[in-house]
Amino acid sequence: MPYNYMIMEAVQLVDTHAHLDGKQFDADREETIQRALEAGIQIITMGTDLDSSEQAVHLAHKHEIFAAVGIHPHEAGRFVKNNQLDSRVLTRLETLLNEERVVAMGEIGLDYFKDYSPREAQLVAFRDQFALAHRLKRPVVIHNREADEDVLEILRDGDAFGVVHSFTGNAALAQKILDLGFYLGINGMVTFPKSGVLRDTVKAIPLERLILETDCPYLAPVPQRGKRNEPLYVRHVAECVAQLRNLSLEKLAEATTGNAMKLFGLERIICS
Ligand SMILES: [Zn+2]
Repeated sequence: MPYNYMIMEAVQLVDTHAHLDGKQFDADREETIQRALEAGIQIITMGTDLDSSEQAVHLAHKHEIFAAVGIHPHEAGRFVKNNQLDSRVLTRLETLLNEERVVAMGEIGLDYFKDYSPREAQLVAFRDQFALAHRLKRPVVIHNREADEDVLEILRDGDAFGVVHSFTGNAALAQKILDLGFYLGINGMVTFPKSGVLRDTVKAIPLERLILETDCPYLAPVPQRGKRNEPLYVRHVAECVAQLRNLSLEKLAEATTGNAMKLFGLERIICS
């Protein structure tokens, strides 16, 4: 076993939010996943529409990683008719959620920054999927961009559990989300020079509610910024967060990996 492999293996991390079905990985998807797994990094790859969710599940089975399935707010417009998420879509998502290695409903939520889908359709898709996750007792992975109030309202009404991913807000918003029992997912944005507010927030979040992610292929952390992101780089996120919290990388990894295992029930699957 090569020397640096042994060192890497000492730190186990989970990239709780990747988009491995993206075309950016077409040339080297297999190697990219193996690179992460060999470095002790587990992965949860997200679905963003029905095809992408099927792909995520396929990748989870093929590579012994994990998947989440759901309709992203950008795609909601295609799947909402007469103020409802198409029932065939909900049925298919439910079937996928019951497959092995499918650990969450995601990526779901609201995006009022890009507004690629009408807001009414986004709200319907979010509510209907949130309700399904609640009924099946599965965690949700939530995308929130400039939609704080509407996201909080749905979280409050819904009583499902999960993570608000790619969190970039201030401590007050973090607190509102934490009060509802949710986790916060932190990615490479925490390493960007302009992210001072986020770094202050990350210092203040209770360690037991923090999980790490890449959101790859987007948002590569410093020192890989500008390149295609990949699960391996969750290590740079971990290093940055450890430094902010005055913890060793080992301690930070132990805590955040434990949180991810607990939230997504990964231990049950890895050990069975
Ligand atoms: Zn995402």
